[in-house]
Order: sequence, then C-alpha cells, then structure tokens
Amino acid sequence: MDESTSRREPKNGPVARTPSRLVSVLMGVTASAVALVAGYQLTNQITESFRVSATTTSRPAPPSVDLAPAVDPIEELQLEVQSGDTLDSLFRDTSLSTLDLAEIMQLDVARKYLRVLRPGDVLVVRHDGGQILQLDRELDIRTKLEVQRDGAGFQASVIEMPIESRIVMAAGQIRSSLFEAAQEARISEKLIMNVAQIFAYDIDFVRDIGAGDEFAVVYEELWRDGVKLGEGGVLAAEFMNRGARFTAIRYQDADDRSSYYTHDGQPMRKAFVRAPLSFTRISSGFNPARRHPILNSIRAHQGVDYAAPKGAPVKASGDGRVIFRGWKGGYGNTIILQHGGNVTTLYGHLSKFGGRGYGSRVQQGDVIGYVGATGLATAPHLHYEYRKNGVHLDPRTVILPNAEPLRGQALTAFRASAEPLLQRLEGRTSMLAANRAQ
Ligand SMILES: [Zn+2]
Repeated sequence: MDESTSRREPKNGPVARTPSRLVSVLMGVTASAVALVAGYQLTNQITESFRVSATTTSRPAPPSVDLAPAVDPIEELQLEVQSGDTLDSLFRDTSLSTLDLAEIMQLDVARKYLRVLRPGDVLVVRHDGGQILQLDRELDIRTKLEVQRDGAGFQASVIEMPIESRIVMAAGQIRSSLFEAAQEARISEKLIMNVAQIFAYDIDFVRDIGAGDEFAVVYEELWRDGVKLGEGGVLAAEFMNRGARFTAIRYQDADDRSSYYTHDGQPMRKAFVRAPLSFTRISSGFNPARRHPILNSIRAHQGVDYAAPKGAPVKASGDGRVIFRGWKGGYGNTIILQHGGNVTTLYGHLSKFGGRGYGSRVQQGDVIGYVGATGLATAPHLHYEYRKNGVHLDPRTVILPNAEPLRGQALTAFRASAEPLLQRLEGRTSMLAANRAQ
C-alpha cells in the first residue's frame, strides 16, 4: 500500500475500498444524520441502504457473509493534510465536490478556519456521492468548526465539544534526573516543567535536585469518547528535596485567578526564584558524586555558579531595575539588578545581553542575558550573586518574604478544597512502592 492512499485511512473503524474513492466508512445512524439527509435531495434507496449498513456495523457480521453495500452509502472521510496539500487538491483527490467547496468558502466563518491548513490537520467530511453533507475541523481540544448542508446551501459555526476532566495522580523518585523520573512516572515533560515552576521559589532545580528526591503530582487529564486528549493543570504537588518537604495546592480566588499555596495558605510565589536559569533537559543532568561542580573559584567565591550551555537564557530572579549593564573585570559581561528591600542581584560571564538596557524595569522571568564564559571563566556558566544591604547571601537558602497569605473566608474555602488534594498526595509513598514493584 503506498503512502498516498494509506494516509487517508480513518484512525479506527472498518474500512472498505471502492475504486471511486480512497476510503469508505459506514456510518452509524444518528438522528441528526437522518434529519440532514432528509433535508437533502434523496431517494428512498439511499435511506434504505443507509439503514442496512448501519445495522451491519452495529453488530459484528458473520465472517462468511460479505455485507459490503451495493449502492452508494453515505460516507465519512478523514482527510489528513500532508505538506503541499490544499483544500482543493484534497477535494479533487477524494472526488468530493469542488463546487460545494467553493460555496462553503463563501461563508466567513468557514473561510476563517479553513484558509490555512497545516500538515497533520484532519478534516472529517461526511458526503453522499461526493456531495458534502458535513465538514468538521478540530480547532483545538475544546472547539471545532462544523460546516453543515442547510437546504440548498451551507452553514458554518464554531462549536464547543464536550470534554471530560479526570483527576489523576503520579509519583516519581529521582535516580539520575528529574526528566527520567518523570518518564518513569509516565508524565510529560511539560507537566514536570510545570511542577518545577511551581516550586521554583523554594527549590533550585538547576543545582539542588538529587538522587532520592521524590515528587507527587495531582493533575487533570482531558478525555473525550475514551480518548485522552492531553493534560490540564496541576491541582496539587509535593516535592521532597534533600529531606525537606514542599507542598503546593492550587486555589482559584473570587476573581477566578488561580495560584498555588502551601497547605496553610501561604503563597508559593515569592519575590525571587531560587535559580535565574530555566531548568532544562540540558542543565538537569547532575553528577551524584559531585553535586556542586565549581567550575572556577574567582577570589573568595561569593556567588553561585550554574553550569549551563553557552547561550542559555538568563532570567531576572525578581522584579527590579537594571543598574549595571556592561563589562565588569573578572565577571566579564555583567548585569546588576536593583530590587525592593535593598536587594541587588548580579549575573556574570554573559555571552551577550538581552533587550533590557541600563535603567530599564524588568519583571521576574524576563530574559536579561545569555550564558557565556566572558571574563575569568574557563567554561560557559552563570555566576549569580544575591546581596541584601550590600552583604552577600546564598540565594538558594535566603529567606524570602512571602506575598499576602490567604485569610478569612478565602482561607476557609481554600482549606475545604485543599483537603481532598492533600489526602491524594498522601498516596505518594504507596504509589512509589507500586511503581518499583512493576
Ligand atoms: Zn562564580
């Protein structure tokens, strides 16, 4: 079977081939389909065969009897867009009416969502002998474009699709890297990155993650018709880092803003993140025998060094203002930020600067430069310092002021919603034991 024919097979369901088209799928009868057909130029014969074919697909047919329809059934095609395809070519290749297509493209909504096709997109077309009855295109997990024949013409609308949210839990233990642990726990990179972001104010994920650390995460999975579509948000998470336990629970306030809090309603979010670099696959590897590789020791070393590849983005650890941007002796290309509370942070050995000039305001997470090896550095790394009132402090352990905790009614509501999630997280130990037994 060559690729050009196989690629348009539906993902599931019975497949029969006829010379005139690539794929024929017998549809199940639905009230709406019948109503649609009834409003259309239609013979009894088609209605009849439609009903017959529906019966044959709803029950497994005896193996010896071939019940392939003798007359044109109404068919559903799944057209998967390949590079170079256009709607026109897809319609021609599958003998669908290009006149119908032209008419459909007169509709603003249809044109808006069909004009651009990307490889991998799927169009689901229901047709009767090439005449379009319905055309669907999923726009995202929750919405789709639906074009339907409506009397002599067509109508198009964007409709919301039902989605089922399942709350699930995963747990992992780190042996070599957080990514590997995530993989073993069967959660995606995106999800573990979300977890790392939630704890970024308490844990230095670039340097302080070690073998034996454990995590648990309660999150949403999005499903439809028994198919998993993707992951929703993290509802609660727990991280055991070098014996210290951190717990975060999502809470949606009265204004529908959601953020994460500790079990007693203190915000996870703080004025500074621990590490001014994103934890990535590249920087995540660590050597258990040498957890704190010091790449160079400039004079009395008063900062933290982060081994990272040249060009890795360096991010402002907190909101502030650029008070130095330039060459600074052994530090090479350097940025210094002034923050509230008389705190300054310094970022050295940069290969180049980000877009923020001297005097600019920056927000936590803004890219202010890129890792390099300028100045007295033997290999690319970031040298990071945190000073309060001019005194060097260890940015990984300094106590950071919390934002406003939850109080009163909000705290009561939070406690009620947190309770079942905390119970769920308690299952971490037994889940890890079960993982190991597998
Ligand atoms: Zn250093």
